[in-house]
Amino acid sequence: MNSPVKGSCLCGAVSFELALPSKFCAHCHCSNCRRAHGAAFVTYVGFRQDQLQLSGADRLTRYLTETGATRSFCNRCGSTLFYEGPRWEGEVHVVLANIEDEIDRPPGAHVYVDHRAPWCEILDELPRYGGETGTEESR
Ligand SMILES: [Zn+2]
Ligand SMILES: [Zn+2]
Repeated sequence: MNSPVKGSCLCGAVSFELALPSKFCAHCHCSNCRRAHGAAFVTYVGFRQDQLQLSGADRLTRYLTETGATRSFCNRCGSTLFYEGPRWEGEVHVVLANIEDEIDRPPGAHVYVDHRAPWCEILDELPRYGGETGTEESR
């Protein structure tokens, strides 16, 4: 059995443990993720919510977006940590950059590629999904 992987925000006020196995790992290029994280795209690892154990929850601000999703970040240092959306009931998508340990899989796909920043070129051979839902087969 795998031991849990650890992660935290930049300042360490919020830390967490995740029980493996993960469900997926993917790069999201949607504009909401880009804005929320200030990045060209965001790499997420998916888990069931009960696989996440959180410390420092009082430092976590949960922002409810217009799409009904919740984006959570450390209210001390601003690190973006978790995404929970109505489309993925019972799941939490954790920002890979804030996980310290190695997880059980490499990134497996790009999603929302039709929404990607024009200055961000995808240079790998991973499967690409797009369309309005972000997860439709794309060329
Ligand atoms: Zn922090
Ligand atoms: Zn996204």
